[in-house]
Amino acid sequence: MTLSNNAKKLISVIEQQGYEAYAVGGCVRDYLLGRGCDDVDIATSATPFEIEQILTDNHIRFIETGLKHGTVTALLDYESYEITTYRTDGSYLDSRHPENVSFVTNLREDLSRRDFTINALAYNDSRGIVDAFGGQQDIEDKLIRAVGDPDARFKEDALRIMRAIRFSSVLSFEIESKTKKALFDNKELLKNVSVERLFAELSKLLLGDNVFNTLVEYRDIIAVIIPELQAIFNVPQNTNWHIYNVWEHTCKSVESAPKDLSLRLTMLLHDIGKAYTRTTDALGVDHFRGHQQISAYYAESVLKRFKVSNEIYNRVMSLVPIHDMHIGTDEKKIKRWLSRVGEAQLRDLVEVKRADKLAQNPEMTQTELEKLNITESRINTIIAQGEPFSVKDLAVNGNDIIALGYKGKEIGECLNIILNAVIDGKVENDKLKLIEFIKNN
Ligand code: ATP
Ligand code: MG
Repeated sequence: MTLSNNAKKLISVIEQQGYEAYAVGGCVRDYLLGRGCDDVDIATSATPFEIEQILTDNHIRFIETGLKHGTVTALLDYESYEITTYRTDGSYLDSRHPENVSFVTNLREDLSRRDFTINALAYNDSRGIVDAFGGQQDIEDKLIRAVGDPDARFKEDALRIMRAIRFSSVLSFEIESKTKKALFDNKELLKNVSVERLFAELSKLLLGDNVFNTLVEYRDIIAVIIPELQAIFNVPQNTNWHIYNVWEHTCKSVESAPKDLSLRLTMLLHDIGKAYTRTTDALGVDHFRGHQQISAYYAESVLKRFKVSNEIYNRVMSLVPIHDMHIGTDEKKIKRWLSRVGEAQLRDLVEVKRADKLAQNPEMTQTELEKLNITESRINTIIAQGEPFSVKDLAVNGNDIIALGYKGKEIGECLNIILNAVIDGKVENDKLKLIEFIKNN
């Protein structure tokens, strides 16, 4: 394993003082997976106090991040490295926080408190890989397996339940059968975990390559943290457009969306309203009229509960209610869309519609998907050529309109009328021509 020069330097200054130091956890796992890793955590036999002394002697800056948990963060050339003293966690009374941690002197004990065998690996240049729990074999077999008794480990810290399925989604690994059973047996404990930590794991899970399978297989775990989804788990969609039920369609649409958290959350929440709107016509075909608004109602409660950022909230909430609206390929219509929702939201909507289509019956959606490509390339052209689609783009402004004798809300109305005329090609976006046009209309 090749460590960065700064990681090597830290390990070697600690070792020079007679202590042990290893890169541990995620970075060793990611290295063995052939994935890059920019976040090296270091575990050491030295106490935090001793680490601070060593760093000071070597003129390395640091901050005391979590002294109680044994962590000092070293800062080298804008990189930060968490250096944590070997420890075991004391008892967990609330499935969340260990009551106390105790420092230990041996690496194996430190590795034994880690969640999964693939995360319980250590490395340094002098000893090579230290693998006390079969993590290397599990990486080879693509398996997520708890270190020790899975049931006890999930009872200690229920966040590990979300971490297990997050790793399954991100790494496309299976979960070993005893670990899997313990996940389901303990799922209700997730209710004790803070929404911030749950959302951090959910976010990574949604961005995984294997998110479809993960959401389908572990839906009952997802339902503990997002009960609103349960209603669509078994809703059929008897229409030629669909080959999946509503939940499977939802999962497929998440996987089909770009790896952008807001878009993937939009897909996760976009069809909840189908649970409440299904009607079946005389031919046996299902309809879900008005489901978009009901989905938006539930999406809002989910997003608020997770305390997502305003940016995510606004993007998702703007897309869910309009996900089924038609954009079309007509240039004038596209300009109207641009003028109504702006470039960023229209591009998002194209992605949402594409993801939605990709999760329907492939025999039916080919033309629709081609049309979306055309829509997208027309958006590109309109933007690239700087064609006007908003009042701001017009060659006249409010003052020009006032000079023509308009007052109050007439000004805005007038600007909108000429914008429409420009989009329709009735008049050129040229100041004199626009003024002429206003005078004549
Ligand atoms: P990521 O790629 O998301 O950083 P990671 O495995 O490095 O994944 P971190 O949260 O950075 O995850 O944690 C670093 C290491 O600490 C893990 O590899 C694991 O060994 C240990 N760890 C993290 N969270 C837990 C937990 N809840 N229970 C037990 N060990 C944990
Ligand atoms: Mg990490």
